[in-house]
Amino acid sequence: MNGQHRIERIEVLPFAIPLTGTVKFATGTLSAAEHLLVTVHTDSGVTGTAEAIPRPMIYGETGVSLAYAIETLIAPALMGMSIFETAQIEHRLRHLAGNVAAKSSVEIAIFDAIGNALGVSCHSLLGGFAHDVRCTAILGSGDAATLIAEVDELHDTLGITSLKVKVGLDVTKDIELVTRVREHSPQAVIYVDANHGFTAAEAIRFVRATEGMLDWIEEPCAAEEVLGRAAVVSASTVPVLGDESCITTREVVNEVLGARSSMIGLKLQRTGITQSQRIREFCTALGVPVLVASQGDSGIGTNVSASFAAAQASTATLPAELAYFLHLENDLMTVPPVIRDGRLAVSSQPGFGIAIDKDTLNHYRTDKD
Ligand code: MG
Repeated sequence: MNGQHRIERIEVLPFAIPLTGTVKFATGTLSAAEHLLVTVHTDSGVTGTAEAIPRPMIYGETGVSLAYAIETLIAPALMGMSIFETAQIEHRLRHLAGNVAAKSSVEIAIFDAIGNALGVSCHSLLGGFAHDVRCTAILGSGDAATLIAEVDELHDTLGITSLKVKVGLDVTKDIELVTRVREHSPQAVIYVDANHGFTAAEAIRFVRATEGMLDWIEEPCAAEEVLGRAAVVSASTVPVLGDESCITTREVVNEVLGARSSMIGLKLQRTGITQSQRIREFCTALGVPVLVASQGDSGIGTNVSASFAAAQASTATLPAELAYFLHLENDLMTVPPVIRDGRLAVSSQPGFGIAIDKDTLNHYRTDKD
């Protein structure tokens, strides 16, 4: 053995963990976390693990297409490579268009393997700036009273004081909703995500009416409304965060330099490690705030996102969306993440600290009866 830890096999196992309630998105509803467990095996016996999250309404990938892409396109391209050849691995992954979650999950699993091989946490390998991260919770839908009850529960049980409110369906009601939540929580970090639900004109009305109430505003109107989106950024006194308009590095560069986004949300599940690092450094160099956002990660992805967020100052000093795993009735890891005083402590175990409980996995995997 020459210490190279060459990739021998990539294993993909589908699993489904029910959510404790239905989670509503602008693009649909979810009642279970139907993800894939991706394990990279090397010739030394060292392995690395990640999860892949299908989001057909955003990226076009399904559970079936994710597994197919990993098994028939990605695994053959990476067979025999050392896990340390990360630049070459990313170069080869770039020759497969799209398939963002498939490529990211494999790259994350390879970084986990690197940490496992070295006996060092990925958090340390990526910079080790802070040891915990402030968590944002994404509030469910409902009227102001429902949301305020949820805000109180998050505060009282977990100490969470950073809140994201989903808006974008009715600008008048949304202004009222934000006003009520801000009155209730004057000290909290509060931002909204409209998921392109407003027109640019509505978004301008919204940013003017909520001036002084929000910390930033996510995806107020469609990226396709190119000039309108730039006008919203100009009209807003707080940053406009790009999420689904800025998936790839090229999109981030175009949206930021075109002044259509002035803050960026990174999702490890769609840009992996190398591309996420490139986006973070680009933003940091320009003084554009960048935070780590959620793709609906289970505890596995949460460990990865938290390690990445805490590793560098730019992302460690902003709250990260790390609370979604609380919606899952269980977790595949032997030691799931914990939120205390509104913060999530980063794993100091080798890799991303992902130790899978085999019995729990057997219970939730969906590839056998
Ligand atoms: Mg979003």
